[in-house]
Amino acid sequence: MEFIDSHAHLAYDRFVGDEADLVARARAAGVVHMVNPGITESSVAEALALADRFPGFITVGVGIHPNDAQSWQPETYARFKALAADPRVVAVGETGLDYFREHCPPAIQQTVLREHVRLAREIGRPLIIHTRDAHEDLLQLLTEENADEVGGVMHCFSGDLALAERSMALNFYISFAGNLTYKNAKNLHEAAAKLPLDRLLIETDAPFLTPIPHRGERNEPSLVVKVAEMIAQLQGCSVADVAAATTANARRLFRLPGAA
Ligand SMILES: [Zn+2]
Ligand SMILES: [Zn+2]
Repeated sequence: MEFIDSHAHLAYDRFVGDEADLVARARAAGVVHMVNPGITESSVAEALALADRFPGFITVGVGIHPNDAQSWQPETYARFKALAADPRVVAVGETGLDYFREHCPPAIQQTVLREHVRLAREIGRPLIIHTRDAHEDLLQLLTEENADEVGGVMHCFSGDLALAERSMALNFYISFAGNLTYKNAKNLHEAAAKLPLDRLLIETDAPFLTPIPHRGERNEPSLVVKVAEMIAQLQGCSVADVAAATTANARRLFRLPGAA
């Protein structure tokens, strides 16, 4: 079985010095690829350096997390655009709206998200979207900005079935993370049971959201298998079915080698 971790932050202080072991453990678990989205300009640079260390295994999203949206500068757009032809870059993000944490005023987050959508459309790359407590504003903004032209992924999906369907109508995949394995995640369980496999991705969002039975430990890409196992259990299919579908979906969305 082959798995793709569609969202993991390896360029993160908790992993410094440990990357080779972590990649080896991921490969041993069947993970064949991971996408490392930037959350600041400096983390994009770090992710690009990691992509050089593990060529073909790690690719990068260029983006600034909504909690860091204030770090977006007028020159950021051009600096990200200059990376458009770089084979290490497969997406724009992570970007989005996060009203749960009060790091950054919503108006600034929205302006910066619009810039990301504009960039994604200009360079023809999919979007990696983070959203928390901001679903309605998010869908409205993506609609206004014609984000469906490029589509993308709703990473670490935290909504219900109806929200997933509205996201899919905008040309977005739904990516489940380790929180799908938590007992109280009833809305997520229902969505993961009913959504079509050909619209699903899996991710760890490492180092966060460690799946059961490893909750409380540092999360890492090898554990993406736990998310696939949970989807298989909810859908009543085999883990191999989930692995095959989500890997093909990730290859298609991010235009990775081997995409059908
Ligand atoms: Zn996120
Ligand atoms: Zn993330």
